[in-house]
Amino acid sequence: MIEIYRELDAVDILAIGVHPDDIELSACGTVLSHLEKGYRIGICDLTRGELGSRGDPNTRRQEARDASEILGVDWRINLEMADGFSSIDKRHILQIVDIIRKVRPKIILANALDDRHPDHPRGAKLVREAFFFSGLSKISSNDSQMHRADALYHYIQDWQLTPDFCVDISPFIDKKMEAIAAFKTQFYQGSEDDMQQTPISSKDFLDFLKAKMQVFGRTIGVKYAEGFNAHRPVGVDDLMGLI
Ligand SMILES: [Zn+2]
Repeated sequence: MIEIYRELDAVDILAIGVHPDDIELSACGTVLSHLEKGYRIGICDLTRGELGSRGDPNTRRQEARDASEILGVDWRINLEMADGFSSIDKRHILQIVDIIRKVRPKIILANALDDRHPDHPRGAKLVREAFFFSGLSKISSNDSQMHRADALYHYIQDWQLTPDFCVDISPFIDKKMEAIAAFKTQFYQGSEDDMQQTPISSKDFLDFLKAKMQVFGRTIGVKYAEGFNAHRPVGVDDLMGLI
């Protein structure tokens, strides 16, 4: 585990992504919204994204740090699992269990349940297992105490899954796009560069991303939103909190 930005500490929300830009692309509007409400939020990237066609682990580490500064999250770490080849096994589950127990979140955010990139649903499954096993006292990981988060939600990524709920991120759209632009090797920076072009390096991809947030926003009557899936019905204690 390496610390990318500030030091690990207790949080309300733990946002986990397989690749260093997953949170920024699909859930950082929600992160910004909840930071403004005063919640503490940490980001845990599972891999260094070393299989990405553009950039390398060092540039991506710096980009993740820059994006974290823009977002203003409490901290960011990277578990340095192997990009593309991490399997859902005891070793990897316990790595995540250990982080969950250390930072004791109420809510955990994880990758999409299904997606174009096979790492995303695999990461989602890995985190789901860790979410459950972190609450079992007989599962040991270092000397950390068991902890069961209240909920696990999966942020929708490339494929158009049907959300179980959407979060209004309209006031945060500009900052979200700024955080995405911090990943300079990955995304369009105003003109075409000399690096190998990928399905996510064009201006079209950023346009698509914004359109997707508009579609989610349209479904709940706001300008921009992010969509999430849940494993169980989402409960509320105040109907006025629903929009
Ligand atoms: Zn990804």
